[in-house]
Amino acid sequence: MSYAGSNPGPFDPSDPTDPFGPPRPRRSPLRRPLTVALAALVPGALLGWLAYDALGGTGSGGTEGPGAGAGAAPSVLSSPANGSDGAGSAGGAGGDGKTGVGAGTAPAPAGSGATSLRGKVVVIDPGHNPTNYQHTADINRQVDIGTNRKECDTTGTSTNSGYSEAEFTLDVAHRLRTLLQQQGATVRLTQDGDRPFGPCVDERARIGNAAHADAVVSIHADGAGAGQRGFHVILPGAVHEGGADTRAIVGPSKDLGKLVAGDFTRATGTSPSNYVGDGTGLVTREDLGGLNLSTVPKVFIECGNMRDTKDAALLTSGAWRQKAAQGISEGIVSFLHG
Ligand code: ZN
Repeated sequence: MSYAGSNPGPFDPSDPTDPFGPPRPRRSPLRRPLTVALAALVPGALLGWLAYDALGGTGSGGTEGPGAGAGAAPSVLSSPANGSDGAGSAGGAGGDGKTGVGAGTAPAPAGSGATSLRGKVVVIDPGHNPTNYQHTADINRQVDIGTNRKECDTTGTSTNSGYSEAEFTLDVAHRLRTLLQQQGATVRLTQDGDRPFGPCVDERARIGNAAHADAVVSIHADGAGAGQRGFHVILPGAVHEGGADTRAIVGPSKDLGKLVAGDFTRATGTSPSNYVGDGTGLVTREDLGGLNLSTVPKVFIECGNMRDTKDAALLTSGAWRQKAAQGISEGIVSFLHG
């Protein structure tokens, strides 16, 4: 992928939605034990915990072009989680998905209970598909993304040890689904490892549109160069061409993206990308079909760089993936509470 996006702007301390503003009081850890107790009373949520607790293991990798960096830029935040890890072997940082489960990981609903998102629809789009690599002809088929034609889907990238991006995205999606369902949201995944390939990027967008989603987040991890680290959230640029018209979603998607970026960096302790976004963790792009064809607020998040061993150590950790899902969930909840 190329990263030709523009920078949405620097940190604005007067903007309460700025991702790098001061922490908001609703995230008090003191509320969490109560939240966990409440969540345990919800049968669906309990099933969700058990469902993702059963996930784990590693898979074969794919390939995704390295991000053509827009120039190195200093990060604006310290990163307490960075630099404390060893080599990025798959699963090496505690990662069978079980260590992150349990007390202290449920969201704080700020007194609104487990039904605060009742009536809200969230579509989670786990990037790629674990078996795309077995269907290269299908995923290389060109589809119309409004501005031009582009391949249906790609295999995604992987860590150097073979933990695939597609497996990562599904795992985070499952954790995120559980967290949002605990808040009462209706959650739909664009794919759940339940189809041989894809869906294609145009269908991924249509699924969110057809669901009349209040928010859509596409989960990814990047395949950039070693030493390129950190997460970034991709916002839709304004495009109006062919079947693409993002003009109505640019504003709300930016709001969503800022909230997700801010909560992601706080929940995970990781820094925004040091290779795109000029340290903001935000990048705007006009070349992604999944964004161009969306008619509902939507962002992508590249949670880290699978090709950097330090980032890979985080991405392969189940405990870290739980924090990632927590951060994304908190951003979505804040957005939906408006
Ligand atoms: Zn991806």
